[in-house]
Amino acid sequence: MDLKSLIRDIPDFPKPGIVFRDITTLLRNPEGLRYTIDFLAQKCIELEIPVDCIVGMESRGFIFGAPLAYKLGSGFIPVRKKGKLPAAVHRIDYELEYGTDCLEVHQDALHPGSRVLIVDDLIATGGTASATATLVQKIGCELVGFGFIIELRDLQGRKYLPDVPIISLVEY
Ligand code: IMP
Repeated sequence: MDLKSLIRDIPDFPKPGIVFRDITTLLRNPEGLRYTIDFLAQKCIELEIPVDCIVGMESRGFIFGAPLAYKLGSGFIPVRKKGKLPAAVHRIDYELEYGTDCLEVHQDALHPGSRVLIVDDLIATGGTASATATLVQKIGCELVGFGFIIELRDLQGRKYLPDVPIISLVEY
């Protein structure tokens, strides 16, 4: 299936000069959604990535991470923006182009030694995925890979990620 044809390009969003890759058009397509999750799961299985749990980043990482976890028979753990999680959290602050941001995960959600696959819809500069990887590794988990639907190759985000398998289904 041609996944790219189901992803919509929105020019000048969120600011002039940026082409936003909009996955809502893929999500609303029943065959497209099923194929995306099945394809991601198949790649994890082919690469023999041992997964205890999937960590997905707010918010589009939830959309793909949770069904992938279901498919692989693992748990799903949300990583959220500041102040959204109700129980005690581990936090990581990271640099953005302008300013900083922060991601949090529940302290009792991840355990040292757990094998974690990080899932998000898209990797651009790699900042979000790399911060999440640091958070997971600080807890003592074993990072076993990354799964993305879309990779923006020109931005070379994968260069900033640890040396584990990186799956992406569509490249721009
Ligand atoms: P990075 O941290 O620069 O790699 O940006 C990746 C994060 O920004 C992901 O969580 C994406 O959801 C979001 N993002 C950046 N650009 C796009 C886009 O064109 N479409 C959808 N999400 C995007």
